[in-house]
Amino acid sequence: MPLPPDAPIEEHCGTCTACIDACPTQAIVAPYEVDARRCISYLTIELAGAIPEELRPLMGNRIYGCDDCQLCCPWNRFATIGDPDFAPRNGLDASAAGPVRLERSEFDSRLAGSPLRRIGHERWLRNIAVALGNAPGTPEVLATLTSRAEHPSLLVREHVGWALARHQK
Ligand code: SF4
Ligand code: SF4
Repeated sequence: MPLPPDAPIEEHCGTCTACIDACPTQAIVAPYEVDARRCISYLTIELAGAIPEELRPLMGNRIYGCDDCQLCCPWNRFATIGDPDFAPRNGLDASAAGPVRLERSEFDSRLAGSPLRRIGHERWLRNIAVALGNAPGTPEVLATLTSRAEHPSLLVREHVGWALARHQK
């Protein structure tokens, strides 16, 4: 279907490099150029397999996407949160150790209607394992990781093993 072309947006960045400086994985490799393979939004949502090990420590506690480049952009201070769909819900805005205990059936029911659900339970556990590997090694974090060490999914087991090994260093 032919679409009418619109005008290119104007350049308003000037000398600002805030988003380039803020990106946790250095995914913005040049002005206006993102290496999606390094972007946490890609790694936690779109990527189906293992997250590259060298990027895991840089992901911090981001378990579903990342908007650091949006949060730091001075132009976005004019934005407002108007849609309640963007408000925290489903009781998941607590520590990551709670959500990792969600079994598959509860994951499906509690996340009904949420975009979080589309990555599925396995990738959800994968992402949280990385976050817990980056978290302080409290007894709760270690116990939560250990509870998933024998998970039937090789993907989950490998990321949990990586996280536990980090805490043993
Ligand atoms: S979403 Fe996060 S990881 Fe991706 S480019 Fe922006 S700051 Fe970097
Ligand atoms: S933070 Fe915003 S204004 Fe600054 S370089 Fe990035 S996109 Fe441009």
